[in-house]
Amino acid sequence: MQLKFKDYDKMSNIVNYLRNYNGPAVKIMEVCGTHTMSIARSGIRTLLSEKIKLISGPGCPVCVTAINRIDEIFELAKRHDTIIATFGDMLKVPGSKAGFNLSMLKSQGANIQIVYSAMDALNLAMNNKENEIIFLGIGFETTAPGTAVAIKEAAVKCIENFSVFSMHKYVEPALRALIESDDFDIDGFLCPGHVSTILGIRGFEFLVEEYKIPSVITGFEAEDILVAIYKILNQITGDNPSIENEYLRIVSYEGNKLAQNMLNEVFYPDDDLWRGIGVINKSGMAIRNKYSKFDAVKKFNINLDFVDKSTACKCGEIIKGKIQPDECKLFAINCTPENPIGPCMVSSEGACAAFYKYLRF
Ligand code: SF4
Repeated sequence: MQLKFKDYDKMSNIVNYLRNYNGPAVKIMEVCGTHTMSIARSGIRTLLSEKIKLISGPGCPVCVTAINRIDEIFELAKRHDTIIATFGDMLKVPGSKAGFNLSMLKSQGANIQIVYSAMDALNLAMNNKENEIIFLGIGFETTAPGTAVAIKEAAVKCIENFSVFSMHKYVEPALRALIESDDFDIDGFLCPGHVSTILGIRGFEFLVEEYKIPSVITGFEAEDILVAIYKILNQITGDNPSIENEYLRIVSYEGNKLAQNMLNEVFYPDDDLWRGIGVINKSGMAIRNKYSKFDAVKKFNINLDFVDKSTACKCGEIIKGKIQPDECKLFAINCTPENPIGPCMVSSEGACAAFYKYLRF
């Protein structure tokens, strides 16, 4: 069934189907943090049969950033000549020292400024020549092209006081690592709409061609997500795994070639540490040698630590789909948005924040 966007008659049929679904029990993972928030906000779980479980995945960029990197950011922020330029989500993410975060460092005098893009950070550098501006590069293929553009622009304009601490990551290696883990038990994927605009349908074909996992690319309206769940169920019950595109109004087969070229020009895949998952081969976006003068790791001799540090926070288990937020003993007791213990409670795309805001009864 092909639906027009917001086809309300057909939507009520789909909701009835999902509510009364009595096929095999299924677990569907939403890869993207924005889907996690949208599912919680729109109450989609309340419309589903008990046989359909929605599980959050590794698509919240702040949540998968290793504690080690947060500690390394703290060290950078303590430099007297440095301005850390960051998205606001990063301010409250604790490092290995419980409860300590960038916001506290700021209150102790560190110069930390919130920006809305890498280009904002570059402008900050051009207007503050006496300071080193370090942009914290967080995010997947959706936000990384913007960072690549800023780096290229910095090169063209010969900006000396701008660099990027790249913690950008590729989605595909993380999905492969999850699928190939011993205890993987997900039956279908809601593929991330934003990343798909960049990578296209082509970027997710491996899920079906290599792993035979039913998958649907979808948008962020409740209707998009409901239709995608319906299509995944059809693939499962029809034993016909495929990659379908439900986000037709945005996602093409090839994706955004310009953005893909920008990524390839500035970054290359290198091993990277993911919170709770560990090191995933070739999953991080490292800055190519051609642009090394804008690589904060090289400029400030950051000795990247790859030993996964564990804490009482269960974000690692949550982003692997092993537990739901309310199964963490700290959820809503010791850990709240005002006093977050882990990044899943801080980020606007975090599963714990979504559960706390919309699913706490
Ligand atoms: Fe971590 Fe807090 Fe979520 Fe528990 S509730 S997993 S401590 S962020």
